[in-house]
Amino acid sequence: MTLIRYLLVGIVNTLVGLGTIYLAMYFLQMGVASSNAFGYLIGIMVSFALNKKWTFKSQDHPVYSFLRYLLVLLVAYVANLETVLFANSHFELNAYLSQALGIIPYTAIGFMGSRYFAFRERRGIQPTLEQANKSRTVKKASLTTRMTELSIVVPCYNEEAVLPETVQRLTELLQYLINKGKVTLDSCVYYVDDGSRDGTWSLIETLSKTNSFVRGIKLSRNLGHQNALLAGLLTVKGEVVISVDADLQDDLAAIEEMLDDYAAGYDIVYGVRSSRKTDTFFKNFTAIAYYRLLGIMGVEIIYNHADYRLMSRRVIDALREFGEVNLFLRGIIPQLGFSNTIVYYERADRFAGESKYPLKKMLSLAWQGITSFSNVPLKFITGLGLLVSLISFAVTIWAIWIKLFTELAIPGWASTVLPIYFLGGIQLLCLGIIGEYLAKIYMETKRRPRYIIEKTTGNL
Ligand code: UDP
Ligand code: MG
Repeated sequence: MTLIRYLLVGIVNTLVGLGTIYLAMYFLQMGVASSNAFGYLIGIMVSFALNKKWTFKSQDHPVYSFLRYLLVLLVAYVANLETVLFANSHFELNAYLSQALGIIPYTAIGFMGSRYFAFRERRGIQPTLEQANKSRTVKKASLTTRMTELSIVVPCYNEEAVLPETVQRLTELLQYLINKGKVTLDSCVYYVDDGSRDGTWSLIETLSKTNSFVRGIKLSRNLGHQNALLAGLLTVKGEVVISVDADLQDDLAAIEEMLDDYAAGYDIVYGVRSSRKTDTFFKNFTAIAYYRLLGIMGVEIIYNHADYRLMSRRVIDALREFGEVNLFLRGIIPQLGFSNTIVYYERADRFAGESKYPLKKMLSLAWQGITSFSNVPLKFITGLGLLVSLISFAVTIWAIWIKLFTELAIPGWASTVLPIYFLGGIQLLCLGIIGEYLAKIYMETKRRPRYIIEKTTGNL
């Protein structure tokens, strides 16, 4: 993984470097050596930042690790230059091909050097909340014996294959928890039928007649997992609400732990899967890439946490204030604040039936997650517009210089080509500015509560 990240950074570095070299050589008419040096300088800055933060997640001192990184690159660069010169003179390859060849020793030396020399102190990849497990020992002591009324919310979409087993297991679990005195007798499970087209609803209806733990909520039509979940969360009555998928992929044993954490004073308990062994490589890869992307976009999210979590009544009431139509619960809940912790569990295979999240729904949820929480994409346009404007300005100056001081000017070139770039840049910039306002409107229209009171004391 690190190597892949390093290679990606390498590609970025090479692109930036080569781009700069190209610009320097052909536009600024610099010599091969000086434009190479210029290209590397820019490339080094970019790659250092990326490698430190992203590839190796290093916590080294920036200056020292930069110096070490420079040393590594110097060695790698010498090897690279040797290869390039050798290839250039002996095989008469052109600058690009020999440059490409030179990347091989450059990368090898660069990676090893960066890994073991430049970035020594690596942050452990533990992207979970700091609070996790912090006070486990204290907690046990402060466990109260008070019973809580528990509501479990289970969204179901075409789940008739797995539902009987789910109901059975959840019933057993509730009985066990009642016997242990952890939850009250009126605790129950709410099955939210998300407009299923199979026998899910009739199954829920029949089961609710014989099983007092079964309650059903039927949605008018299929509104998607997130909306079904929300409907359940905002409807149920319990003092504590736990949401869990119908397919038994999430280990139900974690519920007892969640309740213990609640008793210890936590308002939100996130169920986090400890491994992704049961998922396909594709799902794994896309999930990890996605969490990273969200991080870059500044969306706060719990790594490897889906929608298996405990929420207290206070949290549900706060959630109710969020009137947004585009729902991404995983992103909203961390924004609520409150004291929270994590419970780890092993994620199993689906018990029966097949995934109700085909690629299309997955992509749509992923996009929802970005666009509901981040206006980085809009800011990106502004940046791009600014960049293109600056470049076209530089090229204009260059064209004037050619016209005034050399014989190389091609009639009509500047007057045709420059306006295209210039206007393109201006247009992007304007789009970006419009985007900035759009972003403001977008945040306003969400009408999110501006504050949430966790509790009060004394007579207000
Ligand atoms: N689900 C839903 N509405 C939908 C799609 C899914 O209520 O439109 C429910 C589904 O019944 C299950 C949960 O959401 O309880 C998670 O779906 P699934 O297990 O298929 O997703 P995966 O685990 O494959 O990501
Ligand atoms: Mg599932």
